[in-house]
Amino acid sequence: MYNILNFTLEELQDWMKENKESAFRAKQVFSWIYKDVWNFDDMKNIPGTLKEKLKESFIIDIPKIVEVYESNVDDTKKLLLSMQDNNLIECVLMKYKHGNSICVSTQVGCRMGCKFCASTIGGRIRDLSSGEILAQIMVAQRYLGERISNVVLMGSGEPLDNFDNVIKFLKLVNAEYGLNIGQRHITLSTCGIVPKIIELADLKNKLNDENSKVISRGEIIKSYIPYVQEELEKGSNVHMLASPLHSLLQGQTGSRKYKQLLSSANVKKDTLIQILNVILETMPQDILWN
Ligand code: SF4
Repeated sequence: MYNILNFTLEELQDWMKENKESAFRAKQVFSWIYKDVWNFDDMKNIPGTLKEKLKESFIIDIPKIVEVYESNVDDTKKLLLSMQDNNLIECVLMKYKHGNSICVSTQVGCRMGCKFCASTIGGRIRDLSSGEILAQIMVAQRYLGERISNVVLMGSGEPLDNFDNVIKFLKLVNAEYGLNIGQRHITLSTCGIVPKIIELADLKNKLNDENSKVISRGEIIKSYIPYVQEELEKGSNVHMLASPLHSLLQGQTGSRKYKQLLSSANVKKDTLIQILNVILETMPQDILWN
């Protein structure tokens, strides 16, 4: 059995064709699902024979709300959700003047080990599929009776440690036939897996949304430098700080461009020299400054 929420429209159209059904049925099925009809039998314009085929191949995997915790300070609510395999995850609903926001989980547990975080105590149990991340928004919308317009990937799990499913989720949540939440209304929080931050930035074009604000590698470098400067002033270890920067520059040619970027980030000269020296110690010849 497949979870139909993991499917894009194109994938469901392909399934329809493989099962000798018209491709346009895929859009009809999704229009029911995203209007909160989560039972194939209730989809009125779907023929009975197709309903049977759908029931044989798919489930609509919506988690159950086990508990709701309400804040006594504001309207924030935390939903405890039970998955098909009985694992528990949480999502958090926040009401703002500009609309409803949700913080979703991307993994059951987490293996990142941030000292302040309870999600990591039992380690990572498993990744959530793209559909399981999406279903948190769907069940929360039904619970609220209102549209959710902003999404933060900051619940349990490190999104970039579940990269492929999270990228597919970003595509699904943004789709016009689905929840249609714009990329500008989605925030991905990471504890700092630098190679994956770079991969995400490089995917900018593939995410296929001209209005999206996925920051480029250059922008990451520019915004990282002031942080490095601040940390150095506090006496933090320069090698540790320079290492993510080194990763950002690795594989890049056009070192002049990055030298300019570093210069334009308003770094004090001493700091810049200190950082560059550390990078130069380990940097491959093809990206040495000139
Ligand atoms: S990455 Fe997020 S969920 Fe994982 S341990 Fe750190 S703070 Fe917790």
